[in-house]
Amino acid sequence: MKKLENKVIAITGAAMGLGLATAIEAAQQGAQLALVDYNEKALEEAKQFILKDYPDTKVTTVVADVSKEEEVKKYVEETVKAFGRIDGFYNNAGIEGKQAPMTEYDVEVFKKVIGINLMGVYYGMRYILPIMQKQEYGRIVNVASVGGIRGVMNQTPYVASKHAVSGMTKNAALEFGRHGITTNAIAPGAILTPMVAEAFKQVNPDDPQAAETEYAQANPTKRLGLPEEVAKVVVFLLSEDASYVNGQTIAIDGGESNSY
Ligand code: NAD
Repeated sequence: MKKLENKVIAITGAAMGLGLATAIEAAQQGAQLALVDYNEKALEEAKQFILKDYPDTKVTTVVADVSKEEEVKKYVEETVKAFGRIDGFYNNAGIEGKQAPMTEYDVEVFKKVIGINLMGVYYGMRYILPIMQKQEYGRIVNVASVGGIRGVMNQTPYVASKHAVSGMTKNAALEFGRHGITTNAIAPGAILTPMVAEAFKQVNPDDPQAAETEYAQANPTKRLGLPEEVAKVVVFLLSEDASYVNGQTIAIDGGESNSY
């Protein structure tokens, strides 16, 4: 039995990185998919990529910016129109922002990070929770970060937004657990995606590979994580197997956040 057989799963930030990896794993586990991203071209490529390997998967795409409330309403409405329900929601779209000391941080970039990472996650839950409440069933996985349980140098808005994701996850768990809905968050460490490649370019513009190698040395596993390693945990949390896990923020970081 596949873990997500015939479940309707909505995924934001689905065009690449952790969103795409989870979409592929969910398709493999029998899910039907509503893929959301603001990068239209990459989103279409992601859809074709999935259909090539999993041609029986029903896939819809919605181009939307998660920081805009009206566009969130639109992707939720279009998903319900296409499938009639939403069983699982991977609330994943996010950006890192620029790296800079707290007192020098560009305020406009700060607001943009909060707009996508915090408000985008909130709007998603605001419009999907009522649908799941009617169904008396739902699984939500929000994407925090190790930056949602620890500080990270020069990334104040990212850390603020990801702590907020962890906090909102606890509240959704408390307020909606009685309706058959579980809400959890994941806290990935450094996982090899386009976002992290960009971060290493910011740390060492001349030699991003050196920045990556140095970063990996600090991890107990001496390597970075792979998107597929995150996707398997997300699919578990979206599945029946995780039915009594609620309100948790689960680190997927090779153990690095335990170090002092
Ligand atoms: P990525 O940049 O590789 O992919 C992010 C995707 O989200 C892209 O397809 C992008 O177009 C989309 N997106 C960004 N802003 C959007 C918006 N406003 N509306 C719609 N789509 C939008 O990033 P990733 O590494 O896959 O990160 C995904 C999530 O995981 C983010 O929330 C990120 O903060 C979190 N995360 C990643 C890591 C990591 O190491 N990669 C670690 C911790 C947390």
